[in-house]
Amino acid sequence: MNRLTKGFLLGAAGLTAAMGVAAPAQAKPVKYVFMMIGDGMAMPQRNAAALYLANLEGEGLKPGVMPLTMDNLPVQGMATTYSANAVITDSAAAATALASGHKTNSGVINMDAEGKVKYAPISKLAHDKGYRVGIVSSVSIDHATPAGYYAQVEKRSKYYAISTQLLDSGFEYFAGGAVKEPTGKKKDQANFYDLAKTKGYTVTQSRDAFAALKPGAKKVFAENPVHADGNALPYAMDAGKDSISLAEFTQKGIDLLQGGKFFMMVEGGKIDWSCHANDPGASIGDTVAFDRAVKVVYDFYKKHPNETLIIVTGDHETGGLSIGFAGTKYGNAIKALQGQKSSYIAFGEKFAALRKAKPELVFDDVLPLIKETYGLDVAALAPYEADMLKAAFAESLLPEDQRDAKNPQKYLLYGEYDPLAMTLNHLVSHKAGLAWTTYSHTGVPVPVSAVGKGAEAFAGFYDNTDIAKKTMKAMGL
Ligand SMILES: [Zn+2]
Repeated sequence: MNRLTKGFLLGAAGLTAAMGVAAPAQAKPVKYVFMMIGDGMAMPQRNAAALYLANLEGEGLKPGVMPLTMDNLPVQGMATTYSANAVITDSAAAATALASGHKTNSGVINMDAEGKVKYAPISKLAHDKGYRVGIVSSVSIDHATPAGYYAQVEKRSKYYAISTQLLDSGFEYFAGGAVKEPTGKKKDQANFYDLAKTKGYTVTQSRDAFAALKPGAKKVFAENPVHADGNALPYAMDAGKDSISLAEFTQKGIDLLQGGKFFMMVEGGKIDWSCHANDPGASIGDTVAFDRAVKVVYDFYKKHPNETLIIVTGDHETGGLSIGFAGTKYGNAIKALQGQKSSYIAFGEKFAALRKAKPELVFDDVLPLIKETYGLDVAALAPYEADMLKAAFAESLLPEDQRDAKNPQKYLLYGEYDPLAMTLNHLVSHKAGLAWTTYSHTGVPVPVSAVGKGAEAFAGFYDNTDIAKKTMKAMGL
């Protein structure tokens, strides 16, 4: 280890010292382990969220003030993200690396590239050693990242196989989004919920039933009552009070798993989705919601500092987000996002309703919706900006088969999203001094933040597979 690769500490010295690094790891395995994964979350997502929060109170970030709990953890490191066959990973290969410590091809979960050798994830090894295990996600619970902690499949799209492996895991707590294909792709398989009952799982699908879950419940499948896009939780900025938050699911996991040693993985899955869609408000909203879950486990750590290890990381960056845009130069323009009140998904639903209600919709008809969703007053925009919106509106009205998203020029403008919503996402991003390079993932490294027993092992710059190996070591696996 040379000076460059030696661990570095970010952040305010005062706060870091106050939060403290627990005593060096001893031979005794750590009792409580939290693996917190922001899907698609690297430094830009964290920085944008921190900047946004700082500007709610004042004019920017200040030395010693770091609004996100994860940024305040005393140990900060950095990890690579590439997969076995791609410089830019997908979530399946990344989950395999984080969970089992093996590189594999994109699309594969806990198997080798040929789909022949199976890799055991840390959660399974822990369960075999008597740890109780919890898996929490804000996207469907059979999605690649949560699946990385209980399933072994050669293709991440095998949702039904993944969901049956979920039930076979015997893990004590699953919570968050529903499964995507409860009766299989062709709807001809045994119903997941019936199987869950025969396997001894208590299934909750309402806030009341969730609230009634008490310690002593043996195996729980707690599904969010609200099924948003892809059976996920709604974006945090769109969520009503019926929807259970990631922080609430995390707190319940602690309540139910406590009593013996446990391992819990918590994923903020829609940070990734919002960044695919280049939606700045939704990305920040879900990063903050994820950080609230980090705060929940950090509060638990404070009560059990010598027995708890928390690791916070991302599986890759999504969107190529950066802080800084040509139009805003060096300025701090993040306050422009305070006008965005809901996500592009909520906008899309209301836009579709307008089109249905009035088939001959004209641009002026959507101005109130643009104002209400993004806080943009179209009359106050520069003419070229208004023209971009009008062109996108015209494109949005085209029937799907005339949309031609494969046309490279149109793809660069809109990706495979609704043209008007995407143009608004870009416009409000630029007003806020943010910019995006892609509708996909990028290959940059991700920060790793840690606190607690054995946390010091996470300082430095290492491979994403090392995260699993370091955690296994701390747990004596
Ligand atoms: Zn991912």
